Amino acid sequence: MKKVIILGGGGFIGGHLAKKLKLNGFFVRIADIKQHEYLKQEDICHEFIECDLADPVAVEKVIFEDCYELYQLAADMGGAGYIFTGLNDANIMSNSALINLNVAKEAVKKKVQKIFYSSSACIYPAHNQLDSNNPNCEEGSAYPANPDSEYGWEKLFSERLFLAYASNYNLNVRIARFHNVFGPYGTWNGGKEKAPAAMARKAAETPNGGSFEVWGDGQQTRSFLYIEDCLEAIERFMKSDFNGPLNIGSEEMITINQLAQMAIDISGKNISIHNIDGQEFIDKYGFRCPLGVRGRKSDNNLYRSTIGWEVSAPLIVGMQKTFTWINEQVNNGQ
Ligand code: NAD
Repeated sequence: MKKVIILGGGGFIGGHLAKKLKLNGFFVRIADIKQHEYLKQEDICHEFIECDLADPVAVEKVIFEDCYELYQLAADMGGAGYIFTGLNDANIMSNSALINLNVAKEAVKKKVQKIFYSSSACIYPAHNQLDSNNPNCEEGSAYPANPDSEYGWEKLFSERLFLAYASNYNLNVRIARFHNVFGPYGTWNGGKEKAPAAMARKAAETPNGGSFEVWGDGQQTRSFLYIEDCLEAIERFMKSDFNGPLNIGSEEMITINQLAQMAIDISGKNISIHNIDGQEFIDKYGFRCPLGVRGRKSDNNLYRSTIGWEVSAPLIVGMQKTFTWINEQVNNGQ
C-alpha cells in the first residue's frame, strides 16, 4: 500500500482529496489542527493526527520516511470576508509561512518522493485584474508581483520556497494555483465561506418573496471550479513531469450577481438581489465586505498544453449539488 500524507485534510479540499485517495487504495495519514467538520474520520483516512503544523516538532512527527506523495494544503485562509479585511493579515502570513517552512525542510529530510503545494489565484497582480471582462491570470503574468492581499503574498513566497527546495535539494514539487474551488462539505457560514457557498446559503435561508445582499455592484467577475474537477486536475498534474506553477481553475467566467441569480434559480424561489456598498458595510458577522479584484478567471492554456485535459462540467452542475447540500444544512439547523 503506497502511503500518502495530506496536510490540511481536515479542511474542504484536503478532506475530499483524502477520501478519494483512500478509496483508490492508498494508505492515508491526515494532519490538521482540527477534525473535519462534515466527513467522518474513518471515511477519509487511516490515521488522523491533530496538531499545529506551524510547530516544527509536530511536522517532524507527521512526515514519515516512506512517503509516496505529500499534499500540503494546510493554510490559514477563508473567503473575502476573512482574507481581504486586513484584520487577519499577521496570522494568515505567519501561520501559513511557518507551516510551509517546516514542511519543505522536513520533506527533504524524510526524502518524500513527491510533494504537492496549493498556491492560489490570489498571487496574481492586482493591476491585471481591474477589467472585469478581461482579467489576466496567465501563469507568466505573476511577476512583477503585486497581489491584492497578504494571503497572496504569502502564497507567492511559499511557491518560491518550494521551488528553491526543488532546485537546491531536488525536492520533487508540483505547485498549483487554485482558482475558487467549491462544493459540498466546505465552509458555508461563519465568515470564512467563499462566494458560491455564501450565495447558496443566502438563497436557502431567504424566504420566497424576500431579498438578500450581495457585496458591491455585483458586476465583479470570477470563475469557480467544482471540487470533483479540482481533484481530477490535481491527480493528472501529480502524474505529469511538470513542476508548475500551474493554474487549476475553470475558464467559465460569471459576475457575482449572475452567481447569486443562479443560486436563486436553483432554489426555485422568487428572491431579489440587493447590492450593497463594498467598503463600509458591517454585516451580521461584524466584517467589512471587501470586494477583492474587479475580475478574475483561470487561464488554462498552460494546463491544456502540458497536461492535455480540460475542465468540462458547467458551473451550474456543481452549484446544484452544492445548493442541495447547503440547503440540507440550513434546514437541519446545523
Ligand atoms: P480549508 O480552510 O478548508 O483547509 C485548510 C486546512 O488547513 C484547514 O482544515 C485548517 O484547519 C488547516 N490548518 C490551518 N492552519 C493549520 C495549522 N497551523 N496546523 C494544521 N492545520 C492547519 O481550505 P481549502 O479550501 O480546503 O483550501 C486548501 C488549500 O488550497 C489552502 O492552502 C488554500 O490556501 C488553497 N486554496 C484554496 C482555494 C479554494 O477556493 N478553496 C483557492 C486557492 C487556494
